[in-house]
Amino acid sequence: MPTEDYGTTKAHTARKDKGLQGPRASAPIGDLTPRWGPALARQRRLHWLLLLVVLTILGTVAFFIYKNASLAVVSLPGGIPSGNPGPATGQVPKRANNDEPAGQLSPREAQRQQSSKERGGHESAMLLTGKVVCLDPGHPSENNSGRTLQNGVTELEVNWDVALRLRAYLEQAGVRVVMTKRTMDEYVTNRERAEIANTSGAALFYRIHADTGTHSGVTSYYPAQPGQKDGVRGPSSAVSDSSSLAAEIIHAGIVEAVCPPLRNNGVRTDRATYIGRRQGALTGSIFSQVPTVLTEMCVLSSKTDAEFIKGESGQSSMARGMANGILQFLARHDESTTAP
Ligand SMILES: [Zn+2]
Repeated sequence: MPTEDYGTTKAHTARKDKGLQGPRASAPIGDLTPRWGPALARQRRLHWLLLLVVLTILGTVAFFIYKNASLAVVSLPGGIPSGNPGPATGQVPKRANNDEPAGQLSPREAQRQQSSKERGGHESAMLLTGKVVCLDPGHPSENNSGRTLQNGVTELEVNWDVALRLRAYLEQAGVRVVMTKRTMDEYVTNRERAEIANTSGAALFYRIHADTGTHSGVTSYYPAQPGQKDGVRGPSSAVSDSSSLAAEIIHAGIVEAVCPPLRNNGVRTDRATYIGRRQGALTGSIFSQVPTVLTEMCVLSSKTDAEFIKGESGQSSMARGMANGILQFLARHDESTTAP
């Protein structure tokens, strides 16, 4: 059918409606187009209109199906219960939703948890998704291979084993973990360990060690002031401040999980260590541009400490406590860095 029958100008349409001869008036006999044109045009316009209505309805239905499907996907966060303020708690056992003593919460923390409840668990999960933590299982490094056998265990082994457990807990909570070593035996200097944390965009450089000596128990260290190594002075005061906060929060998580049976030696500064006393801070701290904490999980020369950290339940408890502390720090750190 000739396309001009669907003339789009008003004049053309009007002319046809009045039955006037169109441009084809002089067409040869047998060409019925002019006579049937107006009726067919109306019919076709009706068809197009119907088609348009059907497509509009189908489009609307498809849009709502798509929108509902998207919502369904978004509301399936990785198992972190709704209203869970401690993003770890859905994943890390023993620290259930509301069993945290209220007395330990600052007003600001309580407010944060309340607003988190209002936002729902979905956003709690999102809070940590994309966060990076750099885990550093200590040794072998320039100072020590970590391979000395004490009470049937080496520091190298327990550092690595607890780090792997901790990594699993953190990843379950949506945190991205960067390790400073690919294998237990990989040699990495302490400066390189800090540089891995710096370049990975980590919110925390967390170092796992086990001590030796005549004492016992768990101790966490942070750089309270800058030190100097290889002509470099660090860390910055901002890193010191955030490291102090991280040490307090993480150590509290550990204490809740493992003390007792382990003795709690509290949080100390790098200067309380042998190397920190000489340099002003530990080498890893000096080169760290992100908050950093080092935990000496226990003292391997202590028989009871070694027995604790050798066992699966001791390692698991230690890692769980670290995870709870780290996740709490990440949530707090996030708030302090996004606050107006
Ligand atoms: Zn060590």
